[in-house]
Formats: sequence, structure tokens, C-alpha cells
Amino acid sequence: MRLIFVGPPGAGKGTQCARLTSRLDIPHISTGDMFRAAVKRGTPMGVLAKKAMDAGELVGDDIVIGMVRERLGEEDVQRGFLLDGFPRTIPQAEALEQLLAELSLKLDAVILLEVPDDLIVERIVGRRSDPETGRIYHLKFDPPPPEIADRLKHRSDDTEDAVRSRLKAYHDQTAPLIPFYEQRDALRRVDGVGSMDEVTARLVDALS
Ligand code: AMP
Repeated sequence: MRLIFVGPPGAGKGTQCARLTSRLDIPHISTGDMFRAAVKRGTPMGVLAKKAMDAGELVGDDIVIGMVRERLGEEDVQRGFLLDGFPRTIPQAEALEQLLAELSLKLDAVILLEVPDDLIVERIVGRRSDPETGRIYHLKFDPPPPEIADRLKHRSDDTEDAVRSRLKAYHDQTAPLIPFYEQRDALRRVDGVGSMDEVTARLVDALS
């Protein structure tokens, strides 16, 4: 299956994509994770991306498109993929369309995970991840076990200021993808409000 996940920051894309990709046995391609890995390695791209990420802004289209082009050329993509956080702008969506045509691949669906803005800030600011397992917790909604509390990480772009910029970037630059994919009859809307299991069940239903 070839899927795209779209939704505001904090909609639960990372968690739900991890669940779906293990269920569907397809690679989870998250451009945010790829940038965070580049930042950690201190590559030139990582240095460039970190500036934009910490300000809650988008990394330039050319950089992201080049990175995804390379990733979609890898072997494991043959069995399908789930793109999480890409495309995020119309030029990225157009580049993806061209790339998939070159590879003779067709998208199965674009999932829009919908969560209202007022819930998002609370969700993101309380978010913590476990670097050992990659598991994401929420201090209030999904509290971590106390014995791992010390090792949990708070993303540097999960502050309230950065979240507001990321939401603005979503509405200005990413939301235009909704009519773009609606016109292509590919968009499936899924309500992202509820427990993680409820949302997973809705997603499985939307894909069946
Ligand atoms: P995410 O983990 O998807 O929330 O992405 C974290 C940050 O990485 C975003 O706020 C952007 O700065 C950057 N980023 C991730 N994916 C993209 C993309 N497709 N286009 C531009 N910037 C991106």
C-alpha cells in the first residue's frame, strides 16, 4: 500500500503511522525523523534544517524533495510506503506526483488526520519521547512509567512558541493540499480526536 499522511502538528501522525506501518509491514518514511537524524549526526543538511525546525518553520522544498527522491529509490519501498510529514506544500506534492509517475507507482490514499487547533497546543507541549524505544508519551494523556522519566526527551520544537509557528505554517502552506488531493479523489478524512486505540480503529476502517 502507498499512503500519505497529512495533518496538523500534534495530530498524532507519528504514533498512528508507527502503528499502521507495523500492521501493514511497509516502511514509515517520516521527513521530520529524517531531519532529526541529520541534526543528530551534525550533517550540513542537519545544521540547515535545525534552524528552520527550531523556529517552527518549514525546511526549503528543494532540500526535502531531494531527500525524499533519494529515499523512494531504496529497495524496501517496493512493498509500499507510508509518507508521514511529506508533502507539506503544493510544490512538494507536485514533485511527488512527478516522481511517482517516473517510478510508475500510484498512490492508494491520502489520509487527513483532523484535530482542532485548540487541542493541539496542549497535546504537543506535554509530548515526550523515549530515545531508547522511540515510543512517544504525553505527560497528561499517556503518562510514561516513572522509572524512565529521567531519560525522556522533549523535542526542541515542541515549545508553545514553536507550536504556534508550526500551526501557522500548516494552515498557510500545508492545508492547500486538502483541495489538491480532493480534486484527485484521493483524500480520506479521519477524526483524530479520541484515544489512540479509537483513532487507530478509525484509520484501519478508512483503509479497508
Ligand atoms: P514533523 O516531525 O513532521 O513535525 O517535522 C518536524 C519539522 O521538520 C517541521 O516543523 C519542519 O521544520 C521540518 N519538516 C519535516 N517535514 C518537512 C517537509 N515535508 N517540508 C518542510 N519541512 C519539513
